[in-house]
Amino acid sequence: ATSLTVEGLTRWLRTYATTIADHEEHLTELDAAIGDADHGTNMARGMTSVAALLDDQTFETLDVLAKKVGMALVSAVGGAAGPLYGTFWLRFAQPLAGLATADADQLSRALHAAVDGVRQRGKADVGDKTMLDALVPAVDAYDTAITQGADLPVALTRAAEAADAGCAATVPMVARKGRASYLGERSAGHQDPGATSAALLLRAAVK
Ligand code: ADP
Ligand code: MG
Ligand code: MG
Repeated sequence: ATSLTVEGLTRWLRTYATTIADHEEHLTELDAAIGDADHGTNMARGMTSVAALLDDQTFETLDVLAKKVGMALVSAVGGAAGPLYGTFWLRFAQPLAGLATADADQLSRALHAAVDGVRQRGKADVGDKTMLDALVPAVDAYDTAITQGADLPVALTRAAEAADAGCAATVPMVARKGRASYLGERSAGHQDPGATSAALLLRAAVK
């Protein structure tokens, strides 16, 4: 595929819902170590709500779909991750207004808007041991691949690889945002749950 279609975004979201269901326990275990042991439950509740939305409605454009996904996540998920992933999709929608398909550059703009939205909403950045440690390198890797002439699937694969590496890099970090920051130095030595779910999001795009 050289572009993201409504069907493609729907497939991405359905794959992510399945992935989250498969990783629910793992995400909750990661959150048990440095948070309040609910990240898997939160994400599963959110993505179940998104899957129901996909079952119930059909969408003509990418932005309307992404906006509904964002609203579903905000309303279904309590805690930090719901509003943050909700913001991701609400902002992802904005550069895609009225579009049924997005080419590689349009998808880049949507990904940047999404990640910048998370950054603003959470007042966090790379190095704070959050989902941004997976999301930011992923978008950078995507752009680099597109600039080098890669097609969309290859660029998304590079993004997923960078997200995995960014997620792994959270292990030694001391958390500066979210519940894990309450632990101070004791947050080091554990992989961040939100960076893990974010890396799974990029993986779902290429499955
Ligand atoms: P809660 O911490 O409210 O229980 P979750 O457990 O669902 O919510 O999500 C925790 C994840 O949210 C963390 O692992 C981290 O990746 C992410 N997170 C928390 N605070 C922020 C923030 N300010 N900015 C970005 N991500 C954050
Ligand atoms: Mg939690
Ligand atoms: Mg919680």
